[in-house]
Amino acid sequence: MVTTHNLGFPRIGAKRELKSALEGFWKGETDAQSLQDTGRALRRHNWQTQQQLTWSPVGDFSLYDQVLDMSATLGNLPQRAIEAPGSELDAYFRVARGRSAGDIDGVSAGEMTKWFDTNYHYIVPEFHAGTRFRLNPQRLLSQLAEARENAVAAKPVLIGPVTYLWLGKAKDDSDPLELLEQLLPVYAELLRQLSAEGVEWVQIDEPILVTELDARWCHALSLSYHQLKACPVKLLLSSYFGPLGENLRLACDLPVAGLHLDAICAPQEPLRVADWLPGHKVLSLGVINGRNIWKTDLAATLDWLEPLHRKLGERLWLAPSCSLLHVPVDLDNETRLDPQIHSWLAFARQKLDELAVLAQGLDQGRAAVAEALADNQAALQSRRHSQRVTHPAVRDAVDQLTPELGQRRSAYPQRAALQAQQLQLPRFPTTTIGSFPQTTAIRQTRLKYRKGTLDETQYQARVKQEIAHCIEEQEALGLDVLVHGEAERNDMVEYFGEQLQGYTFSQFGWVQSYGSRCVKPPVLYGDITRTRPMTVDWICFAQSLTDKPLKGMLTGPVTLLNWSFVRDDQPRQASCRQLALAIRQEVLDLEQAGVGIIQIDEAALREGLPLRRSDWPQYLGWAIEAFRLAANGVSDQTQIHTHMCYSNFNDILPAIAAMDADVITIETSRSDMELLGAFEDFQYPNDIGPGVYDIHSPNIPSPEQIVALMEKAAEHIPPQRLWINPDCGLKTRSWDEVRPALQNMVAAARRLREA
Ligand code: GLN
Ligand code: ZN
Repeated sequence: MVTTHNLGFPRIGAKRELKSALEGFWKGETDAQSLQDTGRALRRHNWQTQQQLTWSPVGDFSLYDQVLDMSATLGNLPQRAIEAPGSELDAYFRVARGRSAGDIDGVSAGEMTKWFDTNYHYIVPEFHAGTRFRLNPQRLLSQLAEARENAVAAKPVLIGPVTYLWLGKAKDDSDPLELLEQLLPVYAELLRQLSAEGVEWVQIDEPILVTELDARWCHALSLSYHQLKACPVKLLLSSYFGPLGENLRLACDLPVAGLHLDAICAPQEPLRVADWLPGHKVLSLGVINGRNIWKTDLAATLDWLEPLHRKLGERLWLAPSCSLLHVPVDLDNETRLDPQIHSWLAFARQKLDELAVLAQGLDQGRAAVAEALADNQAALQSRRHSQRVTHPAVRDAVDQLTPELGQRRSAYPQRAALQAQQLQLPRFPTTTIGSFPQTTAIRQTRLKYRKGTLDETQYQARVKQEIAHCIEEQEALGLDVLVHGEAERNDMVEYFGEQLQGYTFSQFGWVQSYGSRCVKPPVLYGDITRTRPMTVDWICFAQSLTDKPLKGMLTGPVTLLNWSFVRDDQPRQASCRQLALAIRQEVLDLEQAGVGIIQIDEAALREGLPLRRSDWPQYLGWAIEAFRLAANGVSDQTQIHTHMCYSNFNDILPAIAAMDADVITIETSRSDMELLGAFEDFQYPNDIGPGVYDIHSPNIPSPEQIVALMEKAAEHIPPQRLWINPDCGLKTRSWDEVRPALQNMVAAARRLREA
């Protein structure tokens, strides 16, 4: 029998059960016991779903983040989180979000950043020269015991030691790699304990194998696995998200029992790896896309798998390409999707079914799975030939786009002078990133409208009421550039997707973004057209209520692309150009309607970066061109803002500068303005709003803290080019948090102006 396994299953629950449990606990409405009960129920359910696999993952479940879990397992939570009184769970949540249920004072939360090129965020491990690891295997062992109770063929999942160090950050000048020697015995002991519990295989993830590694990191990998070789378990070394490329030999030679390769991202490599891999090693191939929601072409996959299977026999294992964390749980819950589009899709559960068909097809021949293969072919054919996918007019319009359309009329200094005249803003202008708290009332309004219990007129009236409230609050706070608050949007991508043709939506297609935050990426299945203005009415209504300048809010083409499940039947850049054209039309409509400031969020620009630097220029080339096409058709007086979150720009500043936005707002507060050094070195020419309020934590920054941050910022950027704003949108916070925080922000701006 072909061995099948899975690298990880979504833990949030098909109906986001974990989200409610976490949020209830944080609010103090429920206790730790009930949170743990929910976790246990989810794990049991997930294992049941994975029953047909030879090996199911254990330890992939996390209450917040798998990297933070690894830090806890290695006894590497920051001191500030452990010091405060409370349980281990409290310490854990303090690192995750700055506080746990019942904490009176917060601590600074761990930095959060993107997990490779996904939209999942992990908590960055913190290191310093004095870091000492200490094994704390309890979480993993108890999940293992649970798995055993549930008769699961358990394959524990760990982040490998080298990737763990690579993901972290030294808080002093020390070098994380120096910690390896001390870290390895802790891993060895963990593996020993797992073996003592009867574990045969352990999946050890080293996704850094798909990045460019210098000699030191390569050496660290060799050293680690030579040292761990003595451990009494079989290690399945897992790489994913890309080809092994120049690390292929290294990966094949590491002394482990098996190697997992992402055959979706690296279709050329299975054969090469099969040639290189020593004869005693298992080759696990990720043959089902763990990052997308399209059905696999099963027959085509069998075409190339069959010869490999003949060659490798038992040594061939099959799996999804990566953890299924990045796809929604179950397509069967989608009762409202168009049936034809529905037939083109597969979520986590369906992907495991596909895997089972492939395994059976290899074992017993295609005839044994003829029916499943025929259904699969029919679905693929229907998609290939569907009239809804191609729109000739869009294709023509996109063909006619030229790079010149992405060129502002004058250079930034001339524009800035005209804009200053027009806008009359004080020094250190204050603004926000767009959204204001999404209260229960707002969510109810949208929900009722969706369900049809509110009609169009009632809905419009309610949203306008929210906008009016938001404007009133901002005026009372004394902010300089106002926003309408985004009450009509439940999500910055979904909102636009819903109005664009070529997109469709799931009801429960949630994917974890960080902690309890989930996103429901829209499904981009066809050519994109904008049939009508998408934001103009709301923005103009908001502008009509205030004399202050109002900033119109749009999501940029690259973010629309990177945060959607994108069609796989044309290059991503072709879809991106179509999106750029649609956003460009919206920008021009806003300008026409008298909106003088337009923000085009490109929150996800950076996460689209290929994992290998050598592939960056190509991506950045088309991504920046798409932004420019969308944004730069406006007159000099119109001020274009862009916003990016969680980004570290050091290495892409030329591209950021090439966007030529008049103002860029960025995430900086958790990284203490460190980022700005890069802007300074690059002599970034335009305005910058470094975030001074960490909106991902419930903590409220004091005016002193904000002033201090801005003073740091001013060491890098001339004060006349600095804006003051939060890190990101405020929609996840409550008014009780936002009001004092923004009051402090405005107070800080006043102090800075006086100084
Ligand atoms: N304008 C969006 C908001 O404020 C930006 C969100 C984001 O960058 N993630 O919600
Ligand atoms: Zn943001």
